[in-house]
Amino acid sequence: MRIHRLSPELAAKIAAGEVIERPLSAAKELIENALDAGATSIRVELRGGGAELLRVTDDGCGIEPDDLELAIARYATSKVAASDDLHAVATLGFRGEALASIAAVSRLELLSRPGHLEAAAFLRVEGGIAIARGRCAAPPGTQVTVRDLFFNVPARRKFLRSAIGESRAILHLVTAMALAYPEVRFTLLDEGEERFSSLGNGSLQDALVRCFGADTAARLLPLPQPEESAIRVSGVVSPPDLHRGSRQHVFFFVNRRWIQSRALTAAVEEAYQTTLPAGRHPVAVLDIRLPYDQVDVNVHPSKSEVRFLREHEVFTAVQRAVRRAVVDAAGVPLVRSSLAPVVVPAGSDNGWPEPPGRLFARYDMLPGRPIRGTQDWEPAPKPAQDAQGAGARSGAALGTPLAPDESGLFRVLGQIGRTYIVAEGPDGMYLIDQHAAHERVLYEQFRRRLLGPGAPSASQVLLQPVALELGPVPAAWLQSEQETFACLGYALEPFGPTTWLVRAVPAALASKGAAAVEYLRAVVDELAEQRMPDAERRERACWSLACHAAVKAGDVLTHEEMIALLQQLERCDFSRTCPHGRPTIVHLSHAQLEREFGRR
Ligand code: ADP
Ligand code: MG
Repeated sequence: MRIHRLSPELAAKIAAGEVIERPLSAAKELIENALDAGATSIRVELRGGGAELLRVTDDGCGIEPDDLELAIARYATSKVAASDDLHAVATLGFRGEALASIAAVSRLELLSRPGHLEAAAFLRVEGGIAIARGRCAAPPGTQVTVRDLFFNVPARRKFLRSAIGESRAILHLVTAMALAYPEVRFTLLDEGEERFSSLGNGSLQDALVRCFGADTAARLLPLPQPEESAIRVSGVVSPPDLHRGSRQHVFFFVNRRWIQSRALTAAVEEAYQTTLPAGRHPVAVLDIRLPYDQVDVNVHPSKSEVRFLREHEVFTAVQRAVRRAVVDAAGVPLVRSSLAPVVVPAGSDNGWPEPPGRLFARYDMLPGRPIRGTQDWEPAPKPAQDAQGAGARSGAALGTPLAPDESGLFRVLGQIGRTYIVAEGPDGMYLIDQHAAHERVLYEQFRRRLLGPGAPSASQVLLQPVALELGPVPAAWLQSEQETFACLGYALEPFGPTTWLVRAVPAALASKGAAAVEYLRAVVDELAEQRMPDAERRERACWSLACHAAVKAGDVLTHEEMIALLQQLERCDFSRTCPHGRPTIVHLSHAQLEREFGRR
């Protein structure tokens, strides 16, 4: 076989396949062009999921009639002139190949009128070849109509997704763009019906209402005001009890460009620190701004990924901002009464699965309703012998001794089913799941120790070292993780190839004695076989240890132990869920009690 050059048409088709993979990619390019043209209103129309017809109309600056041919030529752009420009791209487009690519694989009409001209000019192209040109009346701006996408690339056409799936993906794209550009009015029509519109009045809150619905939008938490620094993160995130089944609702905009990033998504989820139930994801709209020359946008064919010069700093900034918003919002769940009708909107996505007929049919975390400081509730003074007993007994099962003079927020009334603590607190009654609560307390203590640089060593030396014999795989794993467990408070010394001498255990588990060594064995056995990234492994070590060491449902607790546990729980960042995301506390308010008893 001899080598020969491809015809320009074939080369263009092949190249087009890179940039325009599906109708969604064409829609994205056309919307980006409209935004680069300074449009304040962008209308997107679809038929057949965009494969039959995709039309984007804007009121931007328009294209000079003499430039129409250039606009659809390869590597022709008005946005980048010299190679230096590529180091700091401020426009969404810069490669000058989108229109050329779409034109190569469709029947395209480009119609445009710059504001200073009386009439519009149009150009029709089929499979990259100009077939007609003319003038007509039209409002200022540009309209690009793409028909029969991939009509001349049957292989690609065959593999297109269903029209419904593609329409949905384009709807998602348009909502993302509306979130990034609240000052632009977006309209989406699918098969002639309006599917989405934004107001374009510049208000992010209004855009959030359009994209997520009023209820969800009202609950999203604004990030703290960004500091004056090179990297600024603003936007909104969901409170921990509002979550979705997929990561689709986490949006990142970098200098107003919508990007996908697994690493940034992980940074956001990490900020929720296990307050989300397994498999659930937050809602977030994050606007990241940084100097143009600190981000490389030319790393992905569809420009949907970027590379940061100072990646670590960007992740830290995102995580810090999200975490502050989430921690500030941590309140206490409210119980909604069983008797009052419980209205869970159809398709509502943020509730817990609820068995019918449960007394507390639905609880709700209200942001901005911390227990502390909102009411003038005073706990009843504790009887004197409580205080004495506290110091002596509470350490026994719950590790950290009580400060007897510190009266907590709750007055403990008792334990039911050896599982739940009943307490009176601000505005009513509280039920606390003893295992979930203790798990949360221990988890946060461990985690602080592991992540907090220079945290005081918190170990309790055992009177007699305990030998820990492991299988070869767990032993090798523990060898490599020795530092993690040292941070948690376990002093380990190798004692033969698969045996360790445990000389000290975490102070929080001091009262457990040799049992604390068994917890370590359980954690090592559980984690040694699993492969996961470092950060996740340390996180899992914290929860696994907390889970094994926490008091269990069925354990009888003394009054003092319950007081100690509640006091520790109050000090947690995320007091109202266990590390697996299950609730630790439910609340029945005075008003609800009165309603239940027919007092009002
Ligand atoms: P790029 O956006 O990378 O420059 P495109 O192929 O998407 O490349 O567009 C080529 C050129 O056509 C743009 O640089 C711009 O000058 C012009 N253009 C495209 N769409 C529009 C539009 N909607 N309004 C005004 N000018 C446009
Ligand atoms: Mg473009």
